[in-house]
Amino acid sequence: MILQHGVKLEQQKTASLRHKIKILPVPEDMTEPKPLAARQGKLDVAGIIAAAEAARIVDEFDGVSLAQKLKRLRRLKPNMIVACCFDEDPCTSSAMATLRENTDAVIAGLVLAARACGAAENKIAVATPREARMIKKINSQADLILAGERYPARVLLKRKLFASGKNAAYIGAQACVALTAAVDENEAQSFTVVTVAGDGVEHWRNMRVRIGTPLKFLLDACGASEKTTFVITGSSVTGKAVTDLSEPVTAATRCVIALRKTPRNKTYPCIGCEKCARACPRGIVPWRVLREIQSGAPDPVRMPNVQKCIGCSACSVACPSGIDLTAVISKAASFKKSGDFD
Ligand code: SF4
Ligand code: SF4
Repeated sequence: MILQHGVKLEQQKTASLRHKIKILPVPEDMTEPKPLAARQGKLDVAGIIAAAEAARIVDEFDGVSLAQKLKRLRRLKPNMIVACCFDEDPCTSSAMATLRENTDAVIAGLVLAARACGAAENKIAVATPREARMIKKINSQADLILAGERYPARVLLKRKLFASGKNAAYIGAQACVALTAAVDENEAQSFTVVTVAGDGVEHWRNMRVRIGTPLKFLLDACGASEKTTFVITGSSVTGKAVTDLSEPVTAATRCVIALRKTPRNKTYPCIGCEKCARACPRGIVPWRVLREIQSGAPDPVRMPNVQKCIGCSACSVACPSGIDLTAVISKAASFKKSGDFD
């Protein structure tokens, strides 16, 4: 039997995908970005990487400079490059919205990135067959691959491609669009698309905002409620709580979630359902590690693979007892390394 790893998340993207991406006016006190110098010479590999560097493009999926990434990939020689046009978080839809509204620019940027890193193949990864049909209607040339709807989709896709002999590299949908704009229009990356969601805002939307805009602007534009008590940026699975709404939007801010109630972390004892093990994309059995740690005399030998944990939190999300298994595995990994519990 093949175990289907990952967690099926309840998807709440429809509300933010119902409307087109809305453009948020640039705050008055923000200055215009300087135009880039016109490109000199032909557009070869060095020219593509130089354009990404000059435009200061950051890949929204991992917050890494695109120019640095392309240089690194050129050395690593992947045989495929994949544009991540799916959103793993239940509320985020900024990658999907970007692909739907900029299909041609995503394809063009992906082709440029593939050329820059010497990958022979390029694919656009979408979550579902329905999404694939929609994109095919927009551009029948789009070469698509399914990432699925289980979290962590990116890791699971990587594993699937690796098993089929593909050594793939990954790039965000918005980074592809920004690369096209840098090469074709000499434009620096100064805007990003952010999903705003949660019961703390009236309108769930994808907003195109100037990078550097304070989060408060974004929330106010979506009808932030006075009852909002908790704001998270990034994924609702692994995102971080925001304490200061003057914090700026960065190129890696793909989602802002506003909530009226602060989530409570109530936990119960393990019931042995094994959902955590089924969720883990790295073959770790979190409940066994938990039991070993709780034994009072943990033996590193009985905690296999903990050092392979990627911190995706799929196990914590899957656990019906609300146990923070990600922290447990992290603790076990450092114990295995140093021999000490801190
Ligand atoms: S956080 Fe670590 S242990 Fe938990 S599912 Fe992800 S990889 Fe597995
Ligand atoms: S998912 Fe939670 S309750 Fe179920 S076996 Fe794992 S730790 Fe125990």
